[in-house]
Amino acid sequence: MEENRKFDLIIVGLGPVGAVVANLLAQLNISILVIEKNKYIHPTPRAIHFDGEIMRIFQNIGLANLIKKISRPSYQGMRFVDANEKTLLVRKANKKIGDQGWYNNWYFFQPDLENILRLGLNRFNNVSIRLGETLIKIKEFKNKTTLTTNIACSNKKVTYSGKWIIGCDGTKSLISNKISNKVKDLGFDEKWLVIDLNIKKDNFKTKKLPNYTVQHCNPIRPMTRCFINPKKRRWEIKILPSDDLNKIIQKKFLWSILLPWLTPNEAEIERAQIYTFHSTIKNKWRKKNLVIAGDSAHQSPPFLGQGLCAGIRDASSLAWRLGLIIRGKANSSILDTYMDERKKHVLEFIRLAVKCGELINTGKKELITKYFKDDYSNADITFNYPKPQLGKGIWNFGKVPLGQITPQFFIKNNLSDEKAIYKFILLENCKLKKDLKNSDKKLIEEFEIVIISANKEITRWLYSNNSRVALIRPDRYLYGVANDYTGTKKLLNNLKNQLKSKKTIW
Ligand SMILES: Cc1cc2nc3c(=O)[nH]c(=O)nc-3n(C[C@H](O)[C@H](O)[C@H](O)COP(=O)(O)OP(=O)(O)OC[C@H]3O[C@@H](n4cnc5c(N)ncnc54)[C@H](O)[C@@H]3O)c2cc1C
Repeated sequence: MEENRKFDLIIVGLGPVGAVVANLLAQLNISILVIEKNKYIHPTPRAIHFDGEIMRIFQNIGLANLIKKISRPSYQGMRFVDANEKTLLVRKANKKIGDQGWYNNWYFFQPDLENILRLGLNRFNNVSIRLGETLIKIKEFKNKTTLTTNIACSNKKVTYSGKWIIGCDGTKSLISNKISNKVKDLGFDEKWLVIDLNIKKDNFKTKKLPNYTVQHCNPIRPMTRCFINPKKRRWEIKILPSDDLNKIIQKKFLWSILLPWLTPNEAEIERAQIYTFHSTIKNKWRKKNLVIAGDSAHQSPPFLGQGLCAGIRDASSLAWRLGLIIRGKANSSILDTYMDERKKHVLEFIRLAVKCGELINTGKKELITKYFKDDYSNADITFNYPKPQLGKGIWNFGKVPLGQITPQFFIKNNLSDEKAIYKFILLENCKLKKDLKNSDKKLIEEFEIVIISANKEITRWLYSNNSRVALIRPDRYLYGVANDYTGTKKLLNNLKNQLKSKKTIW
């Protein structure tokens, strides 16, 4: 066995969530090791959709423009239809750029996205990546943890030591199980068949296919039909108790399902695979210096296309905290609030996805009234993604928009985050700079807070929230608002107290 190097941080799992955490923290110049058991990027995609907030996170790792090139913005929303293809419900979409500074919805081919995220890591000398090494053993000491890996195709084992460990190692996470094996199950647990197709040629059949996702709410055969891009489509089909699991992935059965829309003349099946869709959340996300993010912490049925999005939000919520802790600017207790904040947020999405699953499985119209709107007789049959407040944590607890994702603004045609990549932002329109005392400036410097003077668009937003100052966190959630220098000083001191607090704040 080889004894190996020491790192500030070890990330286990280089799936999309691990890759985003690594890119975020690499920018802060701390030493990072990433361990991934597979030698190559997984060729079969799971996720196909992400939202505007996630594109904003990609912007904050400097990769949005590359990711934009391999993704398709979607302006059509998602339709829930009954057995006769009559529209029951629509998840809203917007033809214009959304409040995050990007289109609200994007479709992509997962291996392309993962490739860009990995190329992004090549920019940093402080990141080491070990592909083809499987974590097999975790040993905890007072101020460090050692991880032992098995190198693929050899009997060699290597041990690494890290001050902090993030488990982005997916649904069977060893790190998560080391923290706790208790899990809350929200009750959705079903086998679905996923068929990915490459469109071979355009003809009258392919031209008739919709350019949006359709949720087919029909208990006889519930299914989701997805438009990824003009060359790629996906069908997700519920497996029924009467189905024979051996026959269901055979071509004869697959084409019998696809026949109303496509034949082998128009498309080839890239792959067909059975997945079990879960709705679970782990009870504990942190123990001492071990912490988890992504599927190792929670799983959602994919009906809203939000499981990966939630994992990437975890990454963005976690990385600035660890960045401050590792550089000695904050107490490690701030990690306790990471789970409380994120759990409330992600649960809202998982619960909604479970409700969508119930609607797709049963086709019962009354569920729409129950779950999606107050009065179904109303002509409006649309709903939007929720915009949850964080659970209690590092923010000035209060009413919305506090604790919610903030919009991104345009400043002379540039997006405002560009002025403060993954840093705190203080938006102000009260000539704040002239009032700041040396002690304030010291604090602003220590926490790398970037002050942005408001233009008209920002001022309008500040006024709509009865404020003239807003403190925004690096993950772009609203910490708090103020109206003048005195209020701002209070905000900054609260932030300092929360970040430096020796014990759990809540
Ligand atoms: C059919 C389907 C469709 C979906 N569609 C969407 C969608 O459209 N939008 C969306 O947001 N979400 C979607 N999801 C959910 C999304 O795919 C997952 O939430 C997301 O991939 C989780 O990413 P992750 O990085 O946390 O985990 P993973 O992608 O599972 O990555 C974990 C990584 O850890 C590695 N690993 C595991 N154990 C070890 C070990 N012991 N040592 C070293 N490495 C290890 C694995 O090899 C892997 O690379 C979908 C899911 C399914 C099943």
